[in-house]
Amino acid sequence: MSQSNELLACYKVLSLLEKASANSEAMLDDMPGVVVVLNQNLRVIRANQEFSKLCGRNIESVLGFEFTSLFSAENATILLRQFALLRSGETPKKRIDFELEVLLPDQKQNARQYYWQASLVMQKKTAEGELISISGKDLSALYQSEMKLKNIFSNLPLGMLIIDSEGKIKEVLSQFSEVLFDCDKLVGLTFTSLIKNAENQHDKFLSDGLNNFNACFGQNKIEYSNIEKTFPRLISVEDSLKKNTKWLSINYQPILKLNCIDGFILLIEDATESVQAKKEMERVSALERQIQAVYETAIRDPLTGLYTRLFMKDSVKTLISNFHRGSFEELAVLMMDIDHFKNINDTYGHKVGDSIISEVGRVILQQIRETDIAIRYGGEEFLIILPSNLSNMTSARIVAERIRKDIENYCLTLHSGKEVRATISGGGAWCTRGENIELAIERADNYLYQAKRSGRNRIATEGDK
Ligand code: GH3
Ligand code: MG
Ligand code: MG
Repeated sequence: MSQSNELLACYKVLSLLEKASANSEAMLDDMPGVVVVLNQNLRVIRANQEFSKLCGRNIESVLGFEFTSLFSAENATILLRQFALLRSGETPKKRIDFELEVLLPDQKQNARQYYWQASLVMQKKTAEGELISISGKDLSALYQSEMKLKNIFSNLPLGMLIIDSEGKIKEVLSQFSEVLFDCDKLVGLTFTSLIKNAENQHDKFLSDGLNNFNACFGQNKIEYSNIEKTFPRLISVEDSLKKNTKWLSINYQPILKLNCIDGFILLIEDATESVQAKKEMERVSALERQIQAVYETAIRDPLTGLYTRLFMKDSVKTLISNFHRGSFEELAVLMMDIDHFKNINDTYGHKVGDSIISEVGRVILQQIRETDIAIRYGGEEFLIILPSNLSNMTSARIVAERIRKDIENYCLTLHSGKEVRATISGGGAWCTRGENIELAIERADNYLYQAKRSGRNRIATEGDK
């Protein structure tokens, strides 16, 4: 029953009484909820079945009952004050709404507790003198289920707070909230002070978020949705000894009144373990990135971007073991060396020599596949290892030939306008499964020597197998 319905019921009761119609008693019984009419001495002179049920007595024995005796002394005082207020006419209304805890004995004289939400209405001029009508509904069932729910909440390992329209903690729904904030008197504190005390106040995002939280009360849903994202979701708090830091994740459930923010239910979880796990993961991956970076700089030659000989020890070993395990059928090994490089250095200087070496590195990387490995083997010597399933040197020779041609066609123009050109020679050998790669490298070197001897700027390899 809504408040206005109750009010209507009160007035209806009084008008019926005034008319003193014969069937007024019957109509009283039709009224939903509890209806009681009191005389000026606050004794019950009319009541409906609902009220007699509530008292656990029949209607006759209810009549004449002193109404306030139904209540605890504390509640009776509240009631008397309400009656006095009504009588004094101090309140412009002729009605007072109130909630009461009612203790009534049942048939076995056991005390039963009820919760009433009721309205009092005063009518002064009636045939029976001053009358007060009370109508209301029994909220016991609602209160009981609320209590049950509270019991469930209070045992959850979850913080639950109700925040009022001033940002203050109105109710602590779970004891665990106190554990989370390490504080046993949360009611009355403002939520933001609770966090600010615990958290680093210089954190700009946090203080902006808290300011927005404080400013959101009374805002409509659209205004709220714009700032709600800034509310702090993950905060850290320290225990009273400032020894341990705890991470709390906060979920905001707004309470709306007339579509505007009137309070919050906050759900708070201890997120320390997941935050720590995440931090540990971040730390490990940062460390891995650092190690990788150090490794990369150790194994990569800065001038050419190719691997250094240091790398050979690691990766060629892996490659070879893959090779022996059968990931690849066989390996082609190419050894390449820039022709008359001493002359280039002597004529144009070391810097120009370096540029040529760098260009050779670029060309090699461009011509090989991802599965191939290119190593700056010596100053201007390059070793290329090409896994192959073709069982012949053909593809390796094609690669070497392309590199040779690209270098032949390359021309470095100096500031002076002079053009510097270079050529490269290569030797190739075939490494069969189970063979030591060092032997294949040695053979490739011999073929390189052969290429040099027969005029340079050419590739010499073992015949097809
Ligand atoms: P060949 O055709 O027989 O290979 O003649 P070459 O002059 O190239 O002879 P060799 O391969 O023995 O020459 C190597 C030269 O490369 C010697 C050294 O001064 C030069 N060199 C080695 N490393 C570097 C480097 O990092 N930068 C420069 N600019 N020169 C280097
Ligand atoms: Mg050379
Ligand atoms: Mg050399």
